[in-house]
Amino acid sequence: MKWEDNVRKVVPYVAGEQPNKANMIKLNTNECPYPPAPGVRKLAEEMDYDKLRLYPDTDSTILVKELADYYGVKPSQVFVGVGSDDVLATAFVTFFDSGRPILFPDITYSFYDVWADLYRIPYIKCALKDDWHLDVEAFKQPNGGVIFPNPNAPTGLFEELSTVEEILEANRDVVVIVDEAYVDFGGESCLPLLEKYDNLLVVQTFSKSRSMAGLRIGFCIGSEKMIKYLNDVKFSINSYTMNMPSQVMAVEAVRDDAYFKSVTAKIIATRERVKKEMEELGFTFPDSKTNFIFASHKTVPAKEIFEALREQDIYVRFWNKERINNCLRITIGTDEEMDTMLGFLRTYLKDR
Ligand SMILES: *Cc1c(COP(=O)(O)O)cnc(C)c1O
Repeated sequence: MKWEDNVRKVVPYVAGEQPNKANMIKLNTNECPYPPAPGVRKLAEEMDYDKLRLYPDTDSTILVKELADYYGVKPSQVFVGVGSDDVLATAFVTFFDSGRPILFPDITYSFYDVWADLYRIPYIKCALKDDWHLDVEAFKQPNGGVIFPNPNAPTGLFEELSTVEEILEANRDVVVIVDEAYVDFGGESCLPLLEKYDNLLVVQTFSKSRSMAGLRIGFCIGSEKMIKYLNDVKFSINSYTMNMPSQVMAVEAVRDDAYFKSVTAKIIATRERVKKEMEELGFTFPDSKTNFIFASHKTVPAKEIFEALREQDIYVRFWNKERINNCLRITIGTDEEMDTMLGFLRTYLKDR
């Protein structure tokens, strides 16, 4: 026997690249192009570095309370983690332990099958319909749990709450996780459905709409019972997940609701304008309710456009995967960044 026979072998998730060039335009990982709320900057500048000697609050009490107040739930219904990836990974290991396959869309956040493989959770990928909306009927087959993003990534499509509820109604005996990473860009949260479904877990993040990807802050809201189970698992792995500066700065970001709303409104306005211009350039795409557009060109292959943009230090996301290998996921940046990209595409596409 070799030691390698005892290794838990996994195929890891591949994140979008993080190049670090002076004048690059980075539209490949759905970060926010605007800085966090001004109060966050003040906290960063005035932080008492001596406090870094101490362990952070294991319960992230102030942040949990702030989020509970903001979303109108009890603190015992909120769980926070190091980005929503941490929250989702903890939820997978906590709630998907039946041995039955869990269900998620075939085209979706590509971390779901990685966690499922890591934790030895069987799964079935439910094919999206031709219009790239969820096929609700597929989510009615026997299963050990359900997860999907709403709006979905990378399609950008939002499902109406009646659709979410139909899936919940068909799956009352398993946990249903709705990953709302992009809900602040024009979708509608399914949080109100918590009153009716104690098996629903709603996951959100500070990485996209709150401009704080670098601090790694995510959270979820569910029934008190579910949150207790999540905490039991968390405190069995690592009690001190979220660091102290993140806890304090996240509270400030939630408090400045006016700034949050102005940033998301700005991104939505840019997105709607970019949609029109991309249509004129011959792109087609699902009607995004997120901070990205998932676009195909009518004649030029996505891979070629991806490489041409990359040469200009304009980074977008491209997957060489079945069904989506002619699509580019383009994050909405500032108006100026989008104009540079559109300007290049205008010339590039004309010359072809
Ligand atoms: C970005 C993203 C996440 C993870 O975000 P964190 O930075 O870990 O909070 C989760 N789900 C989806 C669908 C995402 O796009």
